[in-house]
Amino acid sequence: MDLVVASPTGLCFGVRRAIERLEGALAEYGTVHSLGSPIHNPQEVARLAGLGLRLIERASLMPQGEVAFVRAHGVTRAELEELKKRSRLVIDGTCPHVSVAQERAQSLFREGYKVVIVGDSNHPEVRGILGYIDGESLVISGESEIDEKSRQKRLGILSQTTQKESSFASAVSKLVLIASEIKVYNTICGATIERQKSIQRLAPQVDGIIVIGGKNSANTRKLVEIAESLGVPAMWIEHSGELSRGWLEGKRSIGVAAGGSTPDWLIKDLRFKLQTL
Ligand code: SF4
Repeated sequence: MDLVVASPTGLCFGVRRAIERLEGALAEYGTVHSLGSPIHNPQEVARLAGLGLRLIERASLMPQGEVAFVRAHGVTRAELEELKKRSRLVIDGTCPHVSVAQERAQSLFREGYKVVIVGDSNHPEVRGILGYIDGESLVISGESEIDEKSRQKRLGILSQTTQKESSFASAVSKLVLIASEIKVYNTICGATIERQKSIQRLAPQVDGIIVIGGKNSANTRKLVEIAESLGVPAMWIEHSGELSRGWLEGKRSIGVAAGGSTPDWLIKDLRFKLQTL
């Protein structure tokens, strides 16, 4: 069985940076509290928990005087204020691309646009961005959710950083028809685009693609969707223990791709398992 690994794949700049900051903080302070999962990979979070990471569900649960960590996907402005009030130190792991999306949303709102985010309303990054807008806004997952109710004079549009380019482009081209003025910021990050393109290049070369990454990772889900939309069978696993021999049967070449929050050690382990099957 031939193995072809997508390139680039795996850890993106923002998640790598967040992990490095967190590891540094854990080595220095022993215990660090993160509001929600610091990155969207359960296995890596479990490893970090072994080093002293603690998760809290709400900023109001931050223990007084302890060290707080802001996850790669960011938090709302109010949550950040609460963390600052309660902790002795806040280490900011927000990816700079997410910070840009937060700033864009804020500036669009201040300029009088109704802000539209093309993304998943339940994703922490989108909830964090919404926290930088003081008024009404709209989150849509794609063009199918655009109807007459979305009609506004001035729409200010941006994307979740891990959005599929094609979904963002089709949403924008529909929104332009229902507003007299639009301002668009394409806030899809470069790492997302590169990983989506790498799986598009990989798909025609293989009989099936294994995508490794957290089931809570939006960018990993997009990789699976892209592979399937190109007619290539895709198996989404979090770790090599979930490999299915039945799925591999009859496939002569297998592609491997990993989400932007999948650490190197999980990819290495998967490659090793596949090579020794
Ligand atoms: S996917 Fe992009 S925006 Fe998200 S953490 Fe990685 S580099 Fe940052």
